[in-house]
Order: sequence, then structure tokens, then C-alpha cells
Amino acid sequence: MTTIEIPHAYPAFECGICGELQNIATRIRLPDCSHTVCKECLTGFATTKIDEGRYPIFCPECIAERPRAIRTQVNEEIMQQLDLPEEQRSRLQELQLVTHCISVQCPSCKEIMNVDRAEFGEHNILVCPLPRCAHKWCKCCLKALASSQDRHRCKNGNIERLMKRKGWKYCPGCRTPVQKEMGCNHMTCGTPGCNVHFCYKCGALMIDTTNGGDVGTAVTDHYNECRLFDRKWKCSIQ
Ligand SMILES: [Zn+2]
Ligand SMILES: [Zn+2]
Ligand SMILES: [Zn+2]
Ligand SMILES: [Zn+2]
Ligand SMILES: [Zn+2]
Ligand SMILES: [Zn+2]
Ligand SMILES: [Zn+2]
Repeated sequence: MTTIEIPHAYPAFECGICGELQNIATRIRLPDCSHTVCKECLTGFATTKIDEGRYPIFCPECIAERPRAIRTQVNEEIMQQLDLPEEQRSRLQELQLVTHCISVQCPSCKEIMNVDRAEFGEHNILVCPLPRCAHKWCKCCLKALASSQDRHRCKNGNIERLMKRKGWKYCPGCRTPVQKEMGCNHMTCGTPGCNVHFCYKCGALMIDTTNGGDVGTAVTDHYNECRLFDRKWKCSIQ
């Protein structure tokens, strides 16, 4: 006796990633854009993005056809539905954390900690969360403070004034202060999850590689239009 296989004898839909007819039970519809993809494809897509340290993750179909500002994000609810391996799940949590936090290094124990971005903006005095350290310092001048000390007359005033004085710049993508060590004025933001390259001279965003793009071309384009860019520095990426 032979069985005849009937292809797609289940209610099917066309997945926007693999382009195949898939069982409707595996369909994931992204909110806002209503693009539909199969669970397997979206899991693979999200795994790759997480491995590349990219967050937020955008709808793969939107990436192909829409400018960044109107792309749908793969939200938390959809992430939960995916079969992400354990490793990527915890990496995702880290990436989510750093987009809301900035990394601060304790000047005493050198431990890197995550501080809430809004909170960091409000307070000038920071305390190391490690109990064995508990170092207290002023974020503006890095001066160590006694544990009982809640006030400190800072010679640097506030972070904005300090940044001006030292010539530091905020990354236009994630607003983390960046200090130029040496070399070319093309800056690559080192904050995990931020994929922004920017000009240290004028502060302009040159390219956000979250969804790919050619850094060399973007740097060259900026070289040509930026009046502040110091041309004597040749960028290694060009
Ligand atoms: Zn698919
Ligand atoms: Zn979409
Ligand atoms: Zn510490
Ligand atoms: Zn201070
Ligand atoms: Zn950044
Ligand atoms: Zn510039
Ligand atoms: Zn460079």
C-alpha cells in the first residue's frame, strides 16, 4: 500500500525569510508591520544578531525594505516565543541591560559595573556596589570620598563641563562619554550593543552598523563633507 503525500495539506502561509510555505502553527506575526515569518527562521535570525552583539533586533523584512526609523522591533513577547539556545538567551539579557545602562569603572577595584543611564545623569557621587570595596567617588573629578561624605565641592562642577574641558564627546548612538586616545577622528563606540561609528571632531554619526553597511564608505563620505575632520589622520579602515 502506498501513501500519497499531499504537500501543504495544512493551513499554510508564506514565510518572509525562507519564502517557503510553512505550517501556520509556526507563524509569527510582527506587530505594527504585520510581516509574517516562520518561527525557525526568526530564531535563526535572532541567534545571529545576538551573536553579533546587536540589539535591538529589527524585523528582518523591515530591514530589507524600510528606513531604520520605521522598522518594527522584535519585542520581548516575540523573543519569548523563539527557541533561543541558553547561551543566546543570557547574552540577550546582557545586551538589553547595556542599552539602559552605561558601564562605569570603579577607580579603586577597577570593577566594571552597570549604572542606570538616568540615574547616572542625576547623581555625581557613585558608590562601588561590591561590599568588599564600597569605594565612594565623584564621577566628575574621580576624587575618592569618605563613606560618610554625601557632599563634595567639585572642582569640575558637572560632567558636561568636564567633558568640554577634556574635549570628550558623547557617542551619538548611546550617549556614553568617549575619550579619544590617539589616532584618527573616526571613533568606534565600544559600548556593547551600540554599533555606532562617529566623528570625534563634529560629533556626527557616520554609520550605525546594526544592520550592516560599509564603514569604509561611510568614513570616506564623512571625510569629504566634514569641515572639522583632520585630514592628516588617515583612517586604517578607508
Ligand atoms: Zn521561514
Ligand atoms: Zn516588519
Ligand atoms: Zn570598587
Ligand atoms: Zn568631584
Ligand atoms: Zn555608542
Ligand atoms: Zn565630522
Ligand atoms: Zn579610523
